[in-house]
Amino acid sequence: MVILPAARRAFALALDFALPVSCALCGRALEPRRGAPPLCPSCRALLRPIAGRRCPRCGEELSSEEGLCMDCRARERVLDEAYPLFRFSGACKDLVSAYKFRDRRSLAPFLAELLAAAAERLWPDWSIVPVPPRPGKLRERGWDQVERLARELEGRGFAVARPLERLGSKQQKRLGREARLANARAAYRLKEGATPPELALLLDDVVTTGATAEACAAALKAGGSRKVSLLILAAD
Ligand SMILES: [Zn+2]
Ligand SMILES: [Zn+2]
Repeated sequence: MVILPAARRAFALALDFALPVSCALCGRALEPRRGAPPLCPSCRALLRPIAGRRCPRCGEELSSEEGLCMDCRARERVLDEAYPLFRFSGACKDLVSAYKFRDRRSLAPFLAELLAAAAERLWPDWSIVPVPPRPGKLRERGWDQVERLARELEGRGFAVARPLERLGSKQQKRLGREARLANARAAYRLKEGATPPELALLLDDVVTTGATAEACAAALKAGGSRKVSLLILAAD
């Protein structure tokens, strides 16, 4: 029997969804065990969250600066603070990419557990606001990786609000910084009649330029949020 690549991929994903059968990083076979992270012990040991001193604004590790990093000193931001779990490099990049780009859905509970620990420690009683996907993404990909994390967090007792929506927009990649900001600002807005939470903890997977987070923070604050922070898996 010939299995078409797409069908084989769907089958592998269905398996991965039910029980992780191989390590998401090295591919080594795992003993399928419900609730176990889809990582072998040696790859798990490679994952090092940012642990040093952080810039209180963007959450990136500081080298020699005191207080804000050089980047944050030079820039006004709507977002009050950001907190990436990982730097987007090495094993952490591979892990986040496996989840975001290669559809390793079985990583969701594991990643959500890490996010939950940070949210509980730093923003207890804030409402989590997932960054909404672009229109058509659910239809094309079959899932939204940020929403999946939000649901995992909801299942752990966190308040989750979904006041934002995203309109269709142009590709960001070729644009310069100012144009990206303007483009993103036009792409995110409050849903009609939505009241955003007073304390909003935006949730996203990877942040590159920060234009999306800034646009979402601006929409939330314009709608009445007093503070907006950002919790992300990784900062690029
Ligand atoms: Zn491994
Ligand atoms: Zn900074």
